[in-house]
Amino acid sequence: MTMRLSNVEVLCDFDGTITNDDIGFNIIKTFAGQGWHEIEDAYQRGEKGSREALAEIFALTTVSEETLRRFIEENFFVDPSFPAFLTLCRREKIAVTVLSDGFDFYIDLIFNKFKVDVPYYANRLKVVDCSLHANFPHASSQCGSCGTCKLDYAKQVKKNGAQIIYIGDGYSDRCVSGVADVVFAKGILAKYCQQQGTPFHPFENFNDILKTWRNGLLQKLNSVEE
Ligand SMILES: [Mg+2]
Ligand SMILES: [Zn+2]
Repeated sequence: MTMRLSNVEVLCDFDGTITNDDIGFNIIKTFAGQGWHEIEDAYQRGEKGSREALAEIFALTTVSEETLRRFIEENFFVDPSFPAFLTLCRREKIAVTVLSDGFDFYIDLIFNKFKVDVPYYANRLKVVDCSLHANFPHASSQCGSCGTCKLDYAKQVKKNGAQIIYIGDGYSDRCVSGVADVVFAKGILAKYCQQQGTPFHPFENFNDILKTWRNGLLQKLNSVEE
């Protein structure tokens, strides 16, 4: 009889987790017109889902594609320790999937610029004549509020028998943190886990995660006998 680690998958947020700051929120702060604050507050209080809030805020936003592109490339970067994390996961044969309630427009820009190759699910964003158009191909039929429903995706992973290591920092990571087997959290998500009594590893960057990993993280996950 040998012991083998059961299947493990990493699910990871994008904005403010892989990057230095929340790109979607900074686009709104910088380019949205008057009235966005009230909508954002309603989202943070849970009165509006992200799909509804984003559509309303984008209706108040005017920016050219060129300006938006430059803003993103000049202000945001990938955590320098993220590539080492991906290398480790690849070596351990652990799949990594990025789940974002942000947008493909800037994720593609950032991943191309920093030569990051990892599958992701996100909302879609197009700039047409200086207005922003969002659509939500990964919305869940069971959840009316998220753009990309992370909980829905995580439930699918669990159904396939894998354990989940979840890494995140924000509002869109709250529901999914409750079903993960291991949570790495900072910012709003860390506060939320504290309130919920969900155990989590605090982190600032992927170096912290690598340290926890090397200290036997996988061994603490359930092993299965064969
Ligand atoms: Mg985030
Ligand atoms: Zn959802």
